[in-house]
Amino acid sequence: MIIRTDSADATRDVGEAVGRLSRDGDVIVLEGDLGSGKTTFTQGVGRGMAIPEPITSPTFVVMREHRGPERDLVHVDAYRIGSLPEWDDLDIDLEGAVSIIEWGNRVAPALPSDCLTIVFVADDDSRELQISAGGPRSRRLLDALEGSR
Ligand code: ADP
Ligand code: MG
Repeated sequence: MIIRTDSADATRDVGEAVGRLSRDGDVIVLEGDLGSGKTTFTQGVGRGMAIPEPITSPTFVVMREHRGPERDLVHVDAYRIGSLPEWDDLDIDLEGAVSIIEWGNRVAPALPSDCLTIVFVADDDSRELQISAGGPRSRRLLDALEGSR
């Protein structure tokens, strides 16, 4: 599935739909250059999950956990994760939350194949979101997103 957005708010709206439709155990991998909209998208996911606090880039802390009224959100920026042991040290419970992993391709061997992968391609203020599913769980989320549009 391909979605084009022409503003940061439009990208947040797509994220909001994904957040609303998400379930515990969903793993969402975000790929794309610096500034392509991965954190902006995640802010929308937070809105869709009714996370009370603002979502900012976890580049320096690597991971933040946000408590939501129904589900929790784990937000990882894997840009600075240099090795798979470093990933293991984060000890993330992927089953017990919705997980979003920016630069997830850097830790791909450690991730389940059943992820929703979104590749962000930037051009001025427009973004192309190339969304694909790696298994039945992410397929459900992708189908729900498609159905909501
Ligand atoms: P990343 O996390 O991929 O490094 P960010 O989400 O932090 O990227 O930054 C994206 C930047 O691009 C923000 O400053 C945002 O306002 C801007 N922007 C402009 N147009 C868009 C768009 N269509 N979608 C997302 N962000 C956009
Ligand atoms: Mg980011």
